[in-house]
Amino acid sequence: MLKPKPVLLHKTGPQIMQELQACIGCNECLLACPALAEPITIDRLNHETLSGSISTPIARFARSCYQCGACVAPCPVGLHRDAMMMWLKMRLLHTVWEG
Ligand code: SF4
Ligand code: SF4
Repeated sequence: MLKPKPVLLHKTGPQIMQELQACIGCNECLLACPALAEPITIDRLNHETLSGSISTPIARFARSCYQCGACVAPCPVGLHRDAMMMWLKMRLLHTVWEG
């Protein structure tokens, strides 16, 4: 029987920071995303992915991201929005745990 694979973060914190800094804000990743149900801006998403409080629409988006990867191919500068979203999901979990 196959052992279940552990869930791994795709990238480290410094790598996520590098990706966020390299983002040109073109919005292509969000246009390709099947899980985004309300308008959010890339600026806000990028900012809240890394630090500060997480607003309700961004939290909702983080929860609805199911790591399909559809946001990766359209990025003109080769970034990984799926990995950034996983980072945001982890931040969200920590926020809940820490109250
Ligand atoms: S990985 Fe998440 S953010 Fe990217 S397209 Fe899929 S649901 Fe959307
Ligand atoms: S597609 Fe890439 S460069 Fe454009 S907003 Fe998304 S992550 Fe940033």
